[in-house]
Amino acid sequence: MSDSQRINPPHYLVWHNAVSPESLEVRQWSDDQVRSWFNAVGKSRTYNGYTHSGHTFNGKETFVAVPFALWPNGDGDSFEEDTWRMIQMVDDPKGYVCWHAGNWPINCDSIGVETYGRYDDKDLPDNATWTLACFVRANGNLWAGNSPVIKGHREVSQTCTDCPNRIMNHLNTLRDMIANPTKYQDNYFTYEQKQAMQKDLEYIKAFISGAYDAPDSLARRISDNNAKVIDPKLKLLNARVEAVEAKMAAISGGVGSGSTSDTTAILELQNEVKTIKLDLSKLSGTNAAQSTGIAVGGLLQKIFNFRNNKKP
Ligand SMILES: [Zn+2]
Repeated sequence: MSDSQRINPPHYLVWHNAVSPESLEVRQWSDDQVRSWFNAVGKSRTYNGYTHSGHTFNGKETFVAVPFALWPNGDGDSFEEDTWRMIQMVDDPKGYVCWHAGNWPINCDSIGVETYGRYDDKDLPDNATWTLACFVRANGNLWAGNSPVIKGHREVSQTCTDCPNRIMNHLNTLRDMIANPTKYQDNYFTYEQKQAMQKDLEYIKAFISGAYDAPDSLARRISDNNAKVIDPKLKLLNARVEAVEAKMAAISGGVGSGSTSDTTAILELQNEVKTIKLDLSKLSGTNAAQSTGIAVGGLLQKIFNFRNNKKP
């Protein structure tokens, strides 16, 4: 409908607060449940009085008024600990004029992002902002010049709205996260990044059970708690790194050939252990566990390869 007036690619990202229901169940909605909720809202409000939207998702007509939703995964001990994800809700975010901004020229020149929950009395967790920042960086081609002009809904609306409530306070953080991701990447993570961490932890688990005779309590704890890497486990990881270090010392003595390549490899591994231990000593929470999990996983992989190459 009026998609002929679309500016493609558009210039703006307009950030909204959905004022959706809030509960663990809603945090754990599937992508389809999220789309279905926005479809119902769009049908009763935005497209009230219209028979068709002219827009589709997976080829089926949809009445969602915003092409993307930023939604938690309900995988944290609390709302603040959740990872978040982006959910696409229409087939052609660049080509459709979605009716979300309360401003026709901006509708024609923007991509809207809806956000779970309500932020009139609390702040959006930074993990959510980080997830949106990673999405924008990875999908820059959705916008003119690979970089959107970021606006909160009420900055562009021609109708009175509080949307996006206190998300307004996060616009500068979003801009900075997009421009300077290295400042944030060790402190916040997306669902995908957390999945990568879990893969590494699975690897550690496999490594340890293969490398040690008895089933290891760390392996069991990682398995039992799955995504939840917390401080006690990090302490165990630290202990395990120390054990690996001791093992390396034994290998080093056992190789005994004195060849330059052996010495170099061992020194390299020892230096990495030092780095990991330093990282571990700085840890205080689950966020930092992400990068450490990957670092320890990478370290163990190298040690594993090294040891395999040393087998007689
Ligand atoms: Zn809005």
